[in-house]
Amino acid sequence: MTLFLDLDETLVHSKTDPAPINYDFVVFPRIDGQIVPFYVLKRPGVDQFLKMAATKFEIVVFTAGLEEYASRVLDLLDPKGEVIAHRLYRDSCRQIGGKYVKDLSDLGRDLGRVAIVDDNPMSFSLQPENAVRVKPFVSDPEDEELKRVMEFLDVAVKFEDVRDAVKFFVGGVVGEPVG
Ligand SMILES: [Mg+2]
Repeated sequence: MTLFLDLDETLVHSKTDPAPINYDFVVFPRIDGQIVPFYVLKRPGVDQFLKMAATKFEIVVFTAGLEEYASRVLDLLDPKGEVIAHRLYRDSCRQIGGKYVKDLSDLGRDLGRVAIVDDNPMSFSLQPENAVRVKPFVSDPEDEELKRVMEFLDVAVKFEDVRDAVKFFVGGVVGEPVG
């Protein structure tokens, strides 16, 4: 089974200058010819989450962010390259009405065997039945959303079709934040 994970506000929160008080690392992508520092704060539990999820699922990070920025963040989230099997950036999104949409039907995977975890319902608007929506993470040190996603993963392995697991997990209210 393949797990498509959003990056911004799902696994991390990044901001540009001025520097916030709390951040885990800084990346310096070149955007439109200019080096722009991004201060990156990891969502609580993200390291354990990725490590655990990778033991059971193929992990693909699918972000609407620019490769120039996101690839640097992913290099630091997965320094040994052991966790994230594939990386998809903005150029893999579809643009619908000016918004970036992540079309899972296009990626050579059986839709019964894929789930997407994302804070933005627009991202999964083409396959909401595959989606576990999370609250956007900004800075809350008490955030426990990834724990809830882990609970979903424990459920998902018991279902043949991931969409049934999603239905079961969110109690039929597809697209609602989990838990
Ligand atoms: Mg996001």
